[in-house]
Amino acid sequence: MKALVYDEYSVDDDFSKILKIKDLPIPKPKPNEVIFKVKAAALNYDDIWGMRGKPLAIPLPHISGTDAAGEVVEVGRDVKNIKVGDRVVSHGNMSCRVCKACTDGREYDCRKRTIWGFETGPLWGGYCEFTHLPEVNVVKIPEGVSYEEAAAASMTLLTSWHMLVGRAKIQPGQLVLIMGGSSGVGNYGIQIAKLFGCTVIATASPDKLDKLLELGADFAVDHRKEDWHKEVRS
Ligand SMILES: [Zn+2]
Repeated sequence: MKALVYDEYSVDDDFSKILKIKDLPIPKPKPNEVIFKVKAAALNYDDIWGMRGKPLAIPLPHISGTDAAGEVVEVGRDVKNIKVGDRVVSHGNMSCRVCKACTDGREYDCRKRTIWGFETGPLWGGYCEFTHLPEVNVVKIPEGVSYEEAAAASMTLLTSWHMLVGRAKIQPGQLVLIMGGSSGVGNYGIQIAKLFGCTVIATASPDKLDKLLELGADFAVDHRKEDWHKEVRS
């Protein structure tokens, strides 16, 4: 299979110097894993950290890609809920599933947590034709959602949901400020806060303010203005 690989860190942020398309064997599943043919993969800032080798020296050689969606082509013998042909998207948060945080439903606080496609490897991420993940790290894609939409939603949607619903515990009628509303996390933040019946103020640069309103924000504020915070408070 083809895979996008690098085996050294970039020293000048010219990532084209280190990225190579390589031929690698198609992975075989461990008993608890599924193999899926990648149909769409989204870019993520952790790809850049990985190629820089900072702030973490991630394993080399490396395949990046935390957000990948595709069709399952093989499952391990212990897999119970996913079958060949299922459309799935990665859940890149790999936690130990046995510590107190994990069993309390706070897997993001797991001390052994790793981010798939970033901290995993060597050669374990989504930018390749076939990849493998534990059954618990894939989610079936609902009807009507494309591979591209699912891949784009994976980490950004989960991050937003965790912040607003898991941590902030937003309630109907509250006023929510989404700073950087035009980012992936911000886009979902606006929609989640509206879903929960909140009033949403979102900030972005001037050319993106209309998009914030299209996504459902009640107010859009230009955060390049020096006194943008006064506009929010008014
Ligand atoms: Zn844990």
